[in-house]
Amino acid sequence: MAEIEEAARVLRIATARIDYRPEDNNHVLDVTVKSASGVGRLMAPQWSMVLDFKEGRIDWPTYVGRYQELMRKNYARYAQVFHALIRDVITEGKCLVLTCYCNTGPDCRECHRFLMADILEKIALNEGYEVCQEGELERRPTPAISPQPTLPGFGAE
Ligand SMILES: [Zn+2]
Repeated sequence: MAEIEEAARVLRIATARIDYRPEDNNHVLDVTVKSASGVGRLMAPQWSMVLDFKEGRIDWPTYVGRYQELMRKNYARYAQVFHALIRDVITEGKCLVLTCYCNTGPDCRECHRFLMADILEKIALNEGYEVCQEGELERRPTPAISPQPTLPGFGAE
């Protein structure tokens, strides 16, 4: 019993590229300014900072500072939404996967999804949860056979 309760207190967090094909135990959350909806929008940067960075007007540390400031504001205003997400993911027994369009590699971690994973870790720890960061998930290769039919309501939108 105690073990079950303990396991139910661990938030698992991972990151992936937007075209990551989720597995059953994933709770995928698009956190992009381009296509996020719902709680994911609270984790998206602003277009202005994205463009400033992509077009070279600000460097990465400046971007990080702006993003963290934005998240501080969002958290101050919507703490309950962040807390509910963490609670739901843990209750589902899933791994929260934050996705974005940025192509990154082992040498490049310049995407806000990694910043958000660390911010969510801090929030969860502060709320008394444990956190397990599972890192960047690899895209799985497209299967050679035809994809299985999807159940109604579960297919790609
Ligand atoms: Zn990104």
